Amino acid sequence: MKTLTLVHLYPREMNIYGDTGNVLVLRRRLQWRGLPVTVTPVSVGDPLPHDTDILLGGGGQDAAQGEIGADFAGRGAQLRAMADDGVVMLAICGTFQMLGHEFVTHEGRHLAGVGVLDVVTHGQPERLIGNNWVDTPQAGRLVGYENHSGLTTLGPDAAALGRTQTGRGNNGKDGTEGAVRDNVLGTYLHGPVLAKSPRLADDLLRRAYDRAGVTSELEPIDDALPELAAKVAVGRPR
Ligand code: GLN
Repeated sequence: MKTLTLVHLYPREMNIYGDTGNVLVLRRRLQWRGLPVTVTPVSVGDPLPHDTDILLGGGGQDAAQGEIGADFAGRGAQLRAMADDGVVMLAICGTFQMLGHEFVTHEGRHLAGVGVLDVVTHGQPERLIGNNWVDTPQAGRLVGYENHSGLTTLGPDAAALGRTQTGRGNNGKDGTEGAVRDNVLGTYLHGPVLAKSPRLADDLLRRAYDRAGVTSELEPIDDALPELAAKVAVGRPR
């Protein structure tokens, strides 16, 4: 069976509200099924492995985004090529913003993105904060926690990952949450999102195997506990 290579981008700087848990959830769901997996952390200056199957990046404070900003922007051509090649990516909040064209912080600092996703983000003084849920066509209801000052607008080449209630999501206004193109998914949901959205976890694994030409079924896992966690979070919006 093919070994899946999970790459964890900037584990030190870009990990808030448990986002590193997304890496643990994917690794665990593979291990429970007896499927081989390696996890490679990539920090500032480290090369991105050429055999990356799934790239994961978490959220960060504006300051942390500034710290990794130049390094991230310098990877733009490679990240765009990987996206075009169907590499699976899950980008949370700060990393989602930087996969777009630009993030302008609420203090007016311009952080260049890499243009993998056709989105732009502008910070503003008020933050969108709380548990949130997002209804998606590919993985049902996703549940997580959002806390961001950046408001994201989708361009014509970006589709929303899903729909959410007014006052939440990308910008609090248009009901969209996250973005998707090919196998690249961005979302504001922390938590970590995959711990409360097991269908999305398996959707990402399936995308990676499909891309590698591996057709085996993923054995079902008892997801009663993550589903209960999701239900409790939905009942506590703030
Ligand atoms: N610093 C960004 C913002 O506030 C991202 C925050 C995050 O990753 N939670 O919009």
